[in-house]
Amino acid sequence: MKERIKQAAEWIMSARKTIAFTGAGVSTESGIPDFRSASGLWSRYDPAEYATLGAFQANPEKVWRMLAEMEQVMDVQPNIGHQALARLERQGALSGIVTQNIDGLHQAAGSATVVEFHGSSRTFTCLPCGRCFPRDAVRGMTRKSDSQMPMPGDCGRGPRDGGGFPCVLKPDVVFFDEAIPPDALAGAAKLVRDADLVLVAGTSCEVFPASEIPWQVRRQGGRVIEINLEPAESLKAELVLRGSFTEMASGLHQAWEALKS
Ligand SMILES: [Zn+2]
Repeated sequence: MKERIKQAAEWIMSARKTIAFTGAGVSTESGIPDFRSASGLWSRYDPAEYATLGAFQANPEKVWRMLAEMEQVMDVQPNIGHQALARLERQGALSGIVTQNIDGLHQAAGSATVVEFHGSSRTFTCLPCGRCFPRDAVRGMTRKSDSQMPMPGDCGRGPRDGGGFPCVLKPDVVFFDEAIPPDALAGAAKLVRDADLVLVAGTSCEVFPASEIPWQVRRQGGRVIEINLEPAESLKAELVLRGSFTEMASGLHQAWEALKS
């Protein structure tokens, strides 16, 4: 394994532009369970019923029962793998990260260029009036006792829409029936452009269109390094580091530093 990590570090050293593409597996060691796993959130809450915009609009209180649980697991710290990627970026070896995660842990670890492909759970928007609230503000709000739905002050809806109602907050995560936000698509395209190496970590690369990112790099003549506990069969990575994200990413950073000095 040491040899493979060294080889990956050499590839980073010789690449023109390296980017990272991450998924749930980079945050499991921080304590956020993979929503898609056997015991994950989607095994208990059918996404069709709890994670579509249509479901939210029809019954936000019902969806908030799921969101309240999601909120709780998000209250964790970045791990040494997140930190290793942030250091690689600060030291000029990584141009940025496209993540499918909504937890904000890459930014919390100090990564500056992060494209949140599936949105973020760090901010909330009121659907009727469009006002945006940071997570800390939402944390402090009064909740409806049964659903845990936050109850901010009066919504900015005009009297014609019926004044006197509280805002209806939806986290800025991309629900299953929602399109990828245009700024995320543009940000990812900018990052992927001219990249000749992509570090794929903690994702089985099965969720389209995010799963296209490694292939785009390859179409540009680039290569793929995979860091995963379980193999991502469809990825066909040129170099595989099979192991935990924390161990592999921190090992890779150390190996890169050793080469550089
Ligand atoms: Zn509102």
